[in-house]
Amino acid sequence: MPGFSTDAILLRKIEYGDHDFIISFLTKSQGKISVIAKNAKKSIKRFSGSLDLFSVNHIQCTFPKKKKDALTILAHAELENGFANIRYDVFKTAYASYWIELIHLWLEENRVQTDVYDLLLFSLDALHIGTISKEVLSLIFQIRFMSISGFSPNIENCDTCKTPVDLIDQKNIWFDFNEGRIICQNCIQKRSKYGMTVSKGTLKQLFWINNSDINRADRIKFSSLAITEGARLLESFIPFHIGREFKSLKFLNRIRQEK
Ligand SMILES: [Zn+2]
Repeated sequence: MPGFSTDAILLRKIEYGDHDFIISFLTKSQGKISVIAKNAKKSIKRFSGSLDLFSVNHIQCTFPKKKKDALTILAHAELENGFANIRYDVFKTAYASYWIELIHLWLEENRVQTDVYDLLLFSLDALHIGTISKEVLSLIFQIRFMSISGFSPNIENCDTCKTPVDLIDQKNIWFDFNEGRIICQNCIQKRSKYGMTVSKGTLKQLFWINNSDINRADRIKFSSLAITEGARLLESFIPFHIGREFKSLKFLNRIRQEK
């Protein structure tokens, strides 16, 4: 039967009827896909592990025989990494849930994006092992995801006069949400309703983690101001840009407050 096999990270799982699941995966070779896992609740043999959120699996899929619009069938799934350390930590779970919700909302189906797959795998792996703090990791994930997906904000220089951040004579610089760019005091005509001021240091650190070697990310020392400000900036700008609220972010903010 024609089909394909690939590594895949589970983004979403919805019950379908009494026995089946409809599952969204981010795959290495096919991009984001939706498949139907028939009899998944019973068949432990075909689906090792329990097809949990953000687990990595090697999957085999077959194309449906007759109907054109029928879903691709998940024939077999073998668990490669369940990231147990994420699952047992409520904060890590909240961060991972945010990343997969972002990918699920933003990516088109069936468009291969290996660099997004690699970024998500790197981030989940580092979150699981704990080599980089979850707060910093989430900044790395968000800023790099935006770059790869083509809606990278300009945080490098004033978008109007092109003065680099370093040379802008202000401590805090306005970031405009509508335009997705920073703009210096001299160039601001009228401040839009949507945006926030961010310190120069935070902008420089965000720029750095977006452009340096990701495998050296564990050496970055972030100030606590940059972590707080960076999170506030990206977690506000991304939902604004996508035009959606994130359930996972609401949850993350609730548990932050309870802490
Ligand atoms: Zn300017």
